[in-house]
Amino acid sequence: MTLSHDVSSSEANEALILYQGEIVKFGRSPHNFGELAGANVQAHGDSPICGDHMTLYLDFRAATIMAAQFTSSACCAVCKASASMMTDMLKHKSLIEVHLLRRAFLRTIEHGDALPLDRTLLGPLTVFERLRHIPSRVECAMLPWTTLETALAQPLMTEPPAEPRGRPVGRSPQ
Ligand SMILES: [Zn+2]
Repeated sequence: MTLSHDVSSSEANEALILYQGEIVKFGRSPHNFGELAGANVQAHGDSPICGDHMTLYLDFRAATIMAAQFTSSACCAVCKASASMMTDMLKHKSLIEVHLLRRAFLRTIEHGDALPLDRTLLGPLTVFERLRHIPSRVECAMLPWTTLETALAQPLMTEPPAEPRGRPVGRSPQ
């Protein structure tokens, strides 16, 4: 009996292309790297398996992400590439668009093959479908997206609008 599920050389090549192309490029010179001045949302993410750490900064106004940047003290090339492309794509996206993008990314990672509609949404992020050949790095690619989910669940850091005034009732006498 022979094994019918050996990794073919074309699959191995595909995985190699991922590493030699976008992953290496963004690993060396990530996009949107550094603290974001004026960010009003910030979230931290860790991936214990790989040891990746990252912080995501968003400038979030009128239910739209105006700008997104990240920093990392330890983030592998796969994580940096995913964070670079994600922060590129988040700019000027509404919450609904972000939700659709995130869903398309998760679906692509899960299935290992992007649906035609998802390819349109994902653009360069479609490259991560090749992680089906490198399942051990899925968590690295996912970290920016789970950090994004954490960020969007947090309250804004900017000062909330002033409390309504004219509530002198209950002031305790001196
Ligand atoms: Zn990693």
